[in-house]
Amino acid sequence: MSITGNYDTDNIFAKIVRGDMPCVKVYEDEHTLAFMDVFPQSRGHMLVIHKREQARNLLDVSTDGLAQIMNSVQKLARAAEQALKPDGIIITQFNGAPAGQTVFHLHFHIIPKYEGDLKPHASGGMADMDALAATADLIKTEL
Ligand code: 5GP
Repeated sequence: MSITGNYDTDNIFAKIVRGDMPCVKVYEDEHTLAFMDVFPQSRGHMLVIHKREQARNLLDVSTDGLAQIMNSVQKLARAAEQALKPDGIIITQFNGAPAGQTVFHLHFHIIPKYEGDLKPHASGGMADMDALAATADLIKTEL
């Protein structure tokens, strides 16, 4: 899917926002939702999305919506740092399939980086759901 086009209201993350698909939720506020990536690149890999903005990527989103997402990205990155003590934290975001985007609802990845341990983007297997939930619980205690 190219960088331009129409927003598909049936994308996976829209379904998660509607409650039509399950997720391991870490945080929610009036505007945004954060949940665990089910194909994590590292322990604590989270995704942060806007709940109402119908934006496929960074180019589509309103400045207010973007600010609301980034506010949550920082909050969750801080919580992950406190809870998981990674060596670093990577924040990524892809625009258009040629850039690596696979789900076309704007999202930011928060990827804790541990020395010598990081899978490439879109390469990991599905996580154990109990392990994901346990990691989410650790991060929640720091929010
Ligand atoms: P993108 O490639 O668009 O930047 O990132 C999409 C992310 O969504 C990937 O890291 C992928 O592992 C994750 N993902 C794909 N399907 C699902 C799903 O059904 N639930 C969750 N929680 N994450 C998903």
